[in-house]
Amino acid sequence: MPLFKKIDYFSTSLEQEISSSFQQHSLLATGSIQLNLASSPSQIEPTLYRCFFEHSSDAMLIADANCKILHVNPAFVAITGYSLEESVGQVPYLLASGEHKASFYDRLWESLNQKGQWRGELVNKHKNGDLFPIWQRINVIEDDSGQVLYYISAFSDISIIKNTERKLWQMAHLDALSGLANRALFEQRLLQEIFAAKRSGQFGAVIFLDLDDFKKVNDCLGHRCGDLLLQEVAKRLQSHLRTEDTVARLGGDEFVILLSGLTHKREDAETMAGSVAQKVLNALLQVYLIDGQELQISASLGITLFSTGFDESTEKLLRQADIAMYAAKTEGKSTYSFYHTGMLEQANKRLSIETELRFALQNDQIILFYQPQYNVAHRLLGFEALVRWQHPEKGMISPADFLPVAEETGLIIELGERILYLACRQLAAWHAQDFEVPHLAVNISPAQFKHCRFVDVVASTLASTGADAHSVMLEITENMIIKDVNTVIEKMQLLKQSGIRFSIDDFGTGYSSLAYLKRLPIDQLKIDRSFVQDIPYNKNDVAIVNTIISLADNLRLEVIAEGVETLEQLNCLAESGCNAFQGFWFSPPLPAYQYEEGYTQSS
Ligand code: C2E
Ligand code: MG
Ligand code: MG
Repeated sequence: MPLFKKIDYFSTSLEQEISSSFQQHSLLATGSIQLNLASSPSQIEPTLYRCFFEHSSDAMLIADANCKILHVNPAFVAITGYSLEESVGQVPYLLASGEHKASFYDRLWESLNQKGQWRGELVNKHKNGDLFPIWQRINVIEDDSGQVLYYISAFSDISIIKNTERKLWQMAHLDALSGLANRALFEQRLLQEIFAAKRSGQFGAVIFLDLDDFKKVNDCLGHRCGDLLLQEVAKRLQSHLRTEDTVARLGGDEFVILLSGLTHKREDAETMAGSVAQKVLNALLQVYLIDGQELQISASLGITLFSTGFDESTEKLLRQADIAMYAAKTEGKSTYSFYHTGMLEQANKRLSIETELRFALQNDQIILFYQPQYNVAHRLLGFEALVRWQHPEKGMISPADFLPVAEETGLIIELGERILYLACRQLAAWHAQDFEVPHLAVNISPAQFKHCRFVDVVASTLASTGADAHSVMLEITENMIIKDVNTVIEKMQLLKQSGIRFSIDDFGTGYSSLAYLKRLPIDQLKIDRSFVQDIPYNKNDVAIVNTIISLADNLRLEVIAEGVETLEQLNCLAESGCNAFQGFWFSPPLPAYQYEEGYTQSS
């Protein structure tokens, strides 16, 4: 009976599906196949087809020319939730999810009318209202005259495939910790925006964001706490930006924001990007509650703009924003700055110092010089350890040239620990040689002192070197004391218990308050060189020096003058009652062995 004209595809694919269906459902199928083996081929076929229809794992439906459902198989019932009775007489629109536009159905019908088939992905709605993705094949069955007789459709639920696809996409494009875009997705979007900006002439902006002193959170409160903080930061960033802006986490505590379609005028675009940066800064500054404890953290932001005339390199833009972010850090953190061309050279210089300094630390290029301190009778009171970088090509580099980079990059912690170790080791060695060194002063940078492990590091350094704590004097600066004075005092007291003493370096140049000074467990004030250099001629300086000396006297503190270069300065200081001096008049800072030789010669 020549009923089916376009049956070729269906029957061949049917055969294929039957054989795979036999493999999938062998247990179910075996019985009916064996049952019918003795029958003639013409009797087998309808049974086989029915068997396939009933046991297929794909949902199947047959509809008439008016799209009224005539029959559905059990898989259809299982996948859609509609029973055979509920389905028959309905149109497949029963399953429509509302997810597809009219144009989608237009294309589907066009394909059915022209090719007699359609296959593709669409979203269906389960009887319970859940949406689920399917892979669907529809075939048209016509008679000889081209009259549509039936529509046959088979589909499978592809939720698992879709979920896997989504997970794979997320793994490739999202940052696992924060759920934000990762670098790859950010660069992809940035590239699109660069092209869009070229076409529209509107400015876009890349904002690079780095949390200030985040390492301290990780070091002091643990990585779990650090991770939770990063997640909170990510949430705040997202909630304070437009949905069309992209926020990404590049790794660690580095985030980037992409603002697009700002305006056509650079100044206006700068103002807009600046106000977004300020909004973000304010949002991040609000207190965080992490694991029951309150935390506060600031961020530094760098901004660069792009528009027409920018050659399309995402890398270049990210680097510019990163460089501008560093400028914000140098300006004192918790601020933002815009990129300008002069910054590049500076950044390259800083980067090369940072890289070389890391290498220097590992390769014994960091050494200490020692400058003696004497009383008026030229008796040795002690030494101050001063760091030097012995560079294999550039020679001796002074701390002024590398300490700021070490501070900015956080390398100061490692560097400070190394300095403390070298100084204590030298002190122990001198004492072991019976070289009477009453004390050795070591400079401590604010970041180093504030670090949560500082007290432990000092204790373990003393233990590992065997240095006598009573001979160690730590030099701190006034500015370190202004913030969080109670914690500073607590730490100082802990260290003092072991015998360590404290000196306030560069005294008079900072913002110390006399109220704090009275509370601090300090032993010495060190008069800054700037007050010494013009005495006895500058009467104001003489007055300041006199005031510091009598202040120290009244507070029962030792006082030492640094930067003493001339006999006149020495006499002036001595007349004012100062009896401890350090400066070129006595000796410049020198390597340790020079004193050992001198000591050996004179003893
Ligand atoms: P500071 O602690 O006030 O050290 C005194 C500085 O004055 C030293 O400079 C020393 O060489 C210099 N100096 C000593 N006597 C005279 C003098 O008579 N005339 C003049 N013009 N200068 C004199 P240096 O070694 O270049 O160190 C500069 C600063 O770098 C130090 O000032 C200190 O703040 C910092 N620094 C040096 N070594 C270390 C260190 O080991 N750790 C830390 N955190 N900072 C250090
Ligand atoms: Mg000093
Ligand atoms: Mg000083």
